[in-house]
Amino acid sequence: MPASPTSQTQPRRPPLTVYLAAPRGFCAGVDRAIQIVELALAKYGAPVYVRHEIVHNRFVVDSLKAKGAVFVEELEDIPQTTQPVIFSAHGVAKAIPEAAKTRNLMVLDATCPLVFKVHMEAVRHHDEGLEILLIGHKGHPEVAGTMGQLPSGSVHLIETIADARAFAPRDPDRLAFVTQTTLSVDDTAEIVAVLKQRFPKIVGPHKEDICYATTNRQAAVKQIAPRIACLLVVGSPQSSNSLRLVEVAKRAGCPQAMLIERAGDIPWSVLEGIASMGVTAGASAPETLVEEVIDALRQRFDVTVETVTTANESIAFNVPRTLRTASAP
Ligand code: SF4
Repeated sequence: MPASPTSQTQPRRPPLTVYLAAPRGFCAGVDRAIQIVELALAKYGAPVYVRHEIVHNRFVVDSLKAKGAVFVEELEDIPQTTQPVIFSAHGVAKAIPEAAKTRNLMVLDATCPLVFKVHMEAVRHHDEGLEILLIGHKGHPEVAGTMGQLPSGSVHLIETIADARAFAPRDPDRLAFVTQTTLSVDDTAEIVAVLKQRFPKIVGPHKEDICYATTNRQAAVKQIAPRIACLLVVGSPQSSNSLRLVEVAKRAGCPQAMLIERAGDIPWSVLEGIASMGVTAGASAPETLVEEVIDALRQRFDVTVETVTTANESIAFNVPRTLRTASAP
């Protein structure tokens, strides 16, 4: 009997098990920030101005741009307007809302409540007369926002263990530390251990400043990493928590871990000959991009998806009260 046309034209695709990390993707802070832009557009119409990328994801930013959001880096880039101005989820230095007030701009603050909590901790320590260390990455907008809660020179940035070893305090008994929310849990623990060993009286957060979403996404990757030949992290190169997922995977034994923004970035040559891989997404990457990656993998492999769940998340944050009513005042 002749072979069917299908068996002649469709070569067998190699089997591939894809371990899908859960939780992955959007966190409550990102979800809230995007909702704020969408609700502002619905209530006030276009344009709404957003200072900095609302969350670090090009797909999200482009889809909000298409709906009428205008993204700027600084307040000075915004014309005098009665339309709303939204601050991104990463938070802003104190001077920014003050400058917006001077210009009578209508502000909607999409700062994640968990970033805001770190701002408040830093202010409280400063009010108590403590010298403050911020564990974080120079240049990240969240770090600029946290340092900018206090007068210049009040907060010292600690990026590495070497920084922690070298830091020379005013008074070793009058110190406090806070951290960026999206750091590597393990790297931060090592830095904190050095600080506590050098300065036993240093005051830290009651509970980690690293947020639940960062912690949970890293824990899921750690679970998957030893079983796979490659991990793809869907996320943006600007996304701190996505970059940390790549590092965490490598450290947990995954030989190849890389960041991709979309399915078009899948490194096919790396996937040749492998039987199992992992997929996750940073806190600012929408699930539709993960689905796009899985669909692209299905084109070339006989894919079996196994979801590896290490935590269930049910956290949600309210949007500002003014956006909870439908129409503009
Ligand atoms: Fe908030 Fe954490 Fe999400 Fe950042 S990653 S927006 S701190 S929940």
